[in-house]
Amino acid sequence: MQTVERMAPLQDEMIALRQHLHAHPELGLEEYNTSKLVASLLEGWGFNVATGLGKTGVVGTLSNGTGRKAIGLRADFDALPIFEETGLPYASKTPGLMHACGHDGHTSMLLAAAKYLAESRSFDGTVHLIFQPAEENFGGAKLMIDDGLFDRFPCDAVFGMHNMPDLEAGVFGFKEGTLFANADGFDVLLTGRGGHASTPELTQDPIVAGASIVMALQTLVSRNLDPMEAGVVTVGVFQAGRASNAIPQSASLTVDARAFTPEVATLLKRRIPDLIRLQAESLGVTATITELTGYPVLVNDVGMTQFARKIAVNTVGAARVVDLKRPYTGAEDFSYMLQKRPGSYLVLGAKANTSQPLHNPGYDFNDQVLLTGAAYWADLAQAFLAST
Ligand SMILES: [Zn+2]
Ligand SMILES: [Zn+2]
Repeated sequence: MQTVERMAPLQDEMIALRQHLHAHPELGLEEYNTSKLVASLLEGWGFNVATGLGKTGVVGTLSNGTGRKAIGLRADFDALPIFEETGLPYASKTPGLMHACGHDGHTSMLLAAAKYLAESRSFDGTVHLIFQPAEENFGGAKLMIDDGLFDRFPCDAVFGMHNMPDLEAGVFGFKEGTLFANADGFDVLLTGRGGHASTPELTQDPIVAGASIVMALQTLVSRNLDPMEAGVVTVGVFQAGRASNAIPQSASLTVDARAFTPEVATLLKRRIPDLIRLQAESLGVTATITELTGYPVLVNDVGMTQFARKIAVNTVGAARVVDLKRPYTGAEDFSYMLQKRPGSYLVLGAKANTSQPLHNPGYDFNDQVLLTGAAYWADLAQAFLAST
């Protein structure tokens, strides 16, 4: 019998749990009730539970048999500051907060796997189930690592999973190497000298400097990058001035930079502030640049990805496993965990008739894939711990 069938009796409970989480979303680093609920369920199933990693993160540990290997499986559990418009009976009870990325589903899948592994004891070794806060904003993965995640819970490998509403339901997607982009950002304040529009010679114009910076930034991708590499530099905000007859004192810009290799990310991170500063200086304007927290490129380990793919073939059959052709332009903080441990991040197709994209106010996690995702986690844990 397949694990999916063995876990079928858990399905109703999992759906109820997922919908409960959906109705009670909490923002990153404020997931107090979610964290408490996860911890108490894990404790009830016999896990050793550690709380407070990365403020609200939870790790459940369970060992069985004599195996010495350990695997880390990660789910995120934060919600987004979005007004839900699904009209569902279990829609968010907190106006302005919503599980619009399916982290309610990720948490439920890993909890279901936890319950199954605890009851079946069908593994030999140690599982560390990592429930992570603040994926959407504060880099909860890094906060947990900084709190000693992998020192306190040594994992030989670590795996994570995201639902994808544009991929066929129940299909697993894998990709070796880069899967998510590096995202960096900069806030820029240009300070010049304001004055009358008719006497520009008495001013240092931050608008002219800003315009020149926006254009100069376009040369980074076209002139600094290897033509075979990809990158994006976008100025998303340019604000200045209030009157046609006045040159303002200051202007502000924000710059967003995306890259798919650490090398390109490093290049852009160095060149963007350099170019802004020098360009501003040449026009007599001062640039104050604040780097915004971004996430590094998510790079999947080749061997671990091949292993994880093989297990998916066992769980759902080869027809339901695909190789992803290109990385996503979004960012994902599981990249920090993959910098510390070998592992792989994979996606689970969750398309439904009414599927809206992630982060859309009409989005809802597809409960029909809960069982598949949970069974995969259980299969992966068992197989990884049994592997030599
Ligand atoms: Zn998201
Ligand atoms: Zn997400």
